[in-house]
Amino acid sequence: MLCFDCAQRGGEEPAVAVCQECGAGLCPAHTTAVAQLVHRAAGMGPVSSSVPGRRMTCRDCRLARRSA
Ligand SMILES: [Zn+2]
Ligand SMILES: [Zn+2]
Repeated sequence: MLCFDCAQRGGEEPAVAVCQECGAGLCPAHTTAVAQLVHRAAGMGPVSSSVPGRRMTCRDCRLARRSA
């Protein structure tokens, strides 16, 4: 798979991640790792892990989330 953002500009950069919002393939330059708390259902209700997980998104989806 190739990076979607690079491909739009005529580039052919290999993708190293996939945006978890829109599913586009992303090269390292276009990948944004977002810390995200992991919630888990455990008996008495949801429990949040003290260690944030990781979520890979493209720049467009990160901007869209921020402005939402
Ligand atoms: Zn790229
Ligand atoms: Zn995206």
